[in-house]
Amino acid sequence: MRKACFLSVVVPMYNEEEVIETTYRRLTSVLEAMGESYEIVFVNDGSRDRTASIVRGLCESDPRVRLVDFSRNFGHQLAVTAGMDYTSGRTVVLIDADLQDPPEIIPEMVNRWREGYDVVYGRRIARKGETWFKKLTATLFYRFLKMMTSVNIPVDTGDFRLMDRKVCDTLSRMRERSRYIRGMVSWAGFRQTSVDYVREERFAGETKYPLRKMLRLSADAITSFSTKPLKLAGILGFLLSAAGFVYLIVVLYLRLFTDNTQPGWSSLIVISLLFHGITLSLLGVLGEYIGRIYEEAKGRPLYVVSDEVNFEQSENPASDGVQRNETDSMMIRSR
Ligand code: UDP
Ligand code: MG
Repeated sequence: MRKACFLSVVVPMYNEEEVIETTYRRLTSVLEAMGESYEIVFVNDGSRDRTASIVRGLCESDPRVRLVDFSRNFGHQLAVTAGMDYTSGRTVVLIDADLQDPPEIIPEMVNRWREGYDVVYGRRIARKGETWFKKLTATLFYRFLKMMTSVNIPVDTGDFRLMDRKVCDTLSRMRERSRYIRGMVSWAGFRQTSVDYVREERFAGETKYPLRKMLRLSADAITSFSTKPLKLAGILGFLLSAAGFVYLIVVLYLRLFTDNTQPGWSSLIVISLLFHGITLSLLGVLGEYIGRIYEEAKGRPLYVVSDEVNFEQSENPASDGVQRNETDSMMIRSR
């Protein structure tokens, strides 16, 4: 089996050919200066550019670099999950490929870990080079999520964090497919703390998180950690029936004791539109949950790996520390 190292760094990549060599260099200089054994696990999430071949080149010259190559784009959270499954370190760091999370913070995270913390997450005290729209939606979203969930997910944190092996193993045992890793880490518990950092501008290239993917991640976050939206239907239904009942009394009174019964066409239309709108939105909420239940029920692997590079020393990377049963096994190797 592969010899466990001290620190594993997981880097998910989707079309990052412009940044990946710089990322490798900056990571390497920080990690070498720390003087501990380490590995860098790059996960290629179905990039359509030269990302994978660049990392293959790095793997040839540096045995501490490893590549997990996906068969297609599975999304950031699953790329991170795969990376974690393949790590062997005592500690595991998750970091973005675009250098928005400064690698120079890693030694500070390791120090906090040495003090006895199991999770050290990076808290963004400022975000540079992001649109006001992204900042505003992010700020609102984190607060909304806090309101909706009972799990205490710290606000303004990304996936940039250091975890102890036992936390990483706990997450690897959670095989749910709508993954919101920050939430899952909070759910897992253990001793957690934060270090502050300034989120830099993307080093090069464009964001790989368009609005569509952000919305999906938000929906995953809420549905994975809260059933409050489902309860909304009950509460709204109750309030509306109460209002309807009051209105019924008013109408009856007008009909029986006065002469001015209203023609009332427009109010009917308003009420009808309002109620249909509410009913359909709540059906949509149900759909979000049922869709996810269906996805879980199919029990497909979370991701499909088409190639692994520089893992040769290990017989089965997934057996490092985590026991998995048949249905859990998430690797389908094409070779
Ligand atoms: N990423 C990925 N798969 C995707 C989208 C993004 O692996 O489908 C990676 C991406 O290469 C980067 C990280 O996830 O390393 C964060 O993405 P990005 O920087 O584009 O998001 P942003 O910082 O703009 O929120
Ligand atoms: Mg980024």
